[in-house]
Amino acid sequence: MSWFKRVEKGIVTPTDQKKETPDGLWYKCPECKTVATMAEHKRLIYTCAKCNYHDRINSAEYFEVLFDNNQFTELDEQLTSGDPLHFVDTKAYPQRIAATQRATGLKDAVRTAYGLMNGQDLVVACMDFKFIGGSMGSVVGEKIARAIDYARQHRVPFLMISKSGGARMMEAGYSLMQMAKTSAKLALLSEAGVPFISLLTDPTTGGVTASFAMLGDFNISEPGALIGFAGPRVIKETIGKDLPKGFQSAEFVLEHGFLDFIVDRKELKQQLTDLLQMVQPVAREVVEAK
Ligand SMILES: [Zn+2]
Repeated sequence: MSWFKRVEKGIVTPTDQKKETPDGLWYKCPECKTVATMAEHKRLIYTCAKCNYHDRINSAEYFEVLFDNNQFTELDEQLTSGDPLHFVDTKAYPQRIAATQRATGLKDAVRTAYGLMNGQDLVVACMDFKFIGGSMGSVVGEKIARAIDYARQHRVPFLMISKSGGARMMEAGYSLMQMAKTSAKLALLSEAGVPFISLLTDPTTGGVTASFAMLGDFNISEPGALIGFAGPRVIKETIGKDLPKGFQSAEFVLEHGFLDFIVDRKELKQQLTDLLQMVQPVAREVVEAK
């Protein structure tokens, strides 16, 4: 005997009367498939409670994590891209930029700002992957260069949060020039004795890895982040060998000496604060000794 008996046959609920769970209420971890409420996921700063998978987040979230009371002043907020090469793929480049700006509410793939982190001045440049794969074009390079200048002129530590597929195809050579420009600006920052911390998040690849992301006084990363120059398939084809397990993960890169440490996002703000408190007096002494 069944507990419930369907008396009427062929019951159909019209679509408009179906009750569905609203979007964005639940989060399912792509690693371990654990389900959590969005509120809980946000409370853990978008990391998984079970396996500590670090979900990708954007500049808005990083600024909220780092700056006290989410208060900061954005630099060069209105800088947007030109179309130096009149590039057309499936869309003309200016159209692609305009469409991405509408979809994301961002002007380009990096936002730069200054504010206080645990009461200490800090300049942050944070990339947004959702803007054409966090690709580095002229605007990204220029905004980072200006943020570094601001940090140097005001003697405020600089934090770069990278998340990028590399150079922006639609600006070709102009993109590559950003590598040289940002690297030169960082050399000036270093000469002035102002600390620079580079945080590599998932994924950091291509020209970004080959320039500013790896030039920090400290290069640090989030757990599990993909860090590399070329993708694994390209490398495998080039060297004709199978790649080791975990190749290009933050943990692998740390083990091979390219990172200083890996930081859990939930401890990011405190660890950065502690680190800067340690290095700033040393940096000042070095400059005074020159
Ligand atoms: Zn998980």
